[in-house]
Amino acid sequence: MPSPEFLLGIVNALGVFALITLGYSYLLRYTQPGVVRSVAIGLMFGVGACLAIANTTEFIPGLFIDPRAVMLVLAAPFGGLLSAVIAAAIACAARLHEGGVGGPAGAGNIVATALIGVLFARYVIGDARSISIGKLFAMGLASNIPLLFILTVPVPNAAEHFMRAVGPLTVADTLGVLVLGRVLSDAWRAHQSAERLSVEATTDPLTGLSNRRHFERRVGPLLQQANHQGTPVSLLVIDVDHFKRINDSFGHEAGDTVLVWIAEIVRSQVRGCDIIARYGGEELVVAMPGADSRRAMTVAERIRAVIEAKGRIEPGDGHRITVSIGVSTRLARYADLFSAADEALYAAKRQGRNRVVTEPVAVAQAA
Ligand code: GH3
Ligand code: MG
Ligand code: MG
Repeated sequence: MPSPEFLLGIVNALGVFALITLGYSYLLRYTQPGVVRSVAIGLMFGVGACLAIANTTEFIPGLFIDPRAVMLVLAAPFGGLLSAVIAAAIACAARLHEGGVGGPAGAGNIVATALIGVLFARYVIGDARSISIGKLFAMGLASNIPLLFILTVPVPNAAEHFMRAVGPLTVADTLGVLVLGRVLSDAWRAHQSAERLSVEATTDPLTGLSNRRHFERRVGPLLQQANHQGTPVSLLVIDVDHFKRINDSFGHEAGDTVLVWIAEIVRSQVRGCDIIARYGGEELVVAMPGADSRRAMTVAERIRAVIEAKGRIEPGDGHRITVSIGVSTRLARYADLFSAADEALYAAKRQGRNRVVTEPVAVAQAA
């Protein structure tokens, strides 16, 4: 019958696992892949290992065990090399600070365990975050190899200690790696599918631009801020001329290719802070924060001219691709901004297409 102290040790270990899982999910959600995320994951696993070291439990009289190896071996698969180095450094510092005759052996054990995680991440697992149970099991078993460091502890009965420790620790660490590895892998998959859903909900699959819903959601706050600061926002509504003819003459696929090409041209002609979206069918919109009417007209004219100059369905083929663009600039509600640009666009169509028309003309014509 395990001692109450040992059962408490298991509860402690599970608590640390839960904190690490929460922290990992949080970091996936609120940080981008890169150095900051790797450092944060390394700190988290390192602190987890320290908590384990601080809560060592007596499994059988004279034998102390804790789940530090679980955190150390999983740092690399779930955070990368940098995370493993940071976690190992923190855990080593904690172990050496604790002192005792087994200090150096404990530190060696920590480094070797983290290294095993690094080797598994690199050579065995591939994308660790969707790791299989079999590979987790193998890594759990391997995380016990550094127990051999017990043999280096300068005490007369080191071999006896090793023989007593190796069985229970191997079982405990392997189970720990299976449990925490599985839960972290699930957290990773949940994050991945949330990201995918979010991209699908906000992006037009053909052009990769924002979709209408996402555009409107982003433009609202942009207009509010501009109104507050007294800066202008311009809107371009870009519509392909006679697009139906392109579809009818060259097929729907060719039409799609034209749309992707136009999206690329528009992207290349605007600033990073401008918001581009496919508003629907063959209509793109660009919101330009801070751009006054003159600037918006200049950009719109550039887009139109580049498309006119380069737009052919096939080299040598006579079919030209052109666009008409309606422009509006004002400090107002989004609906007003949009309908002014839309009216300007239809004025451009009426005037013969392949041109840019700005809002006052449209207003004048509508009047
Ligand atoms: P206008 O110059 O007046 O704008 O004429 P238009 O032919 O471009 O306008 P119209 O609204 O008559 O036709 C738009 C066409 O765009 C009809 C529709 O089949 C096509 N379309 C809408 N979405 C897509 C798409 O995703 N791919 C392709 N290939 N065609 C599309
Ligand atoms: Mg059109
Ligand atoms: Mg249209």
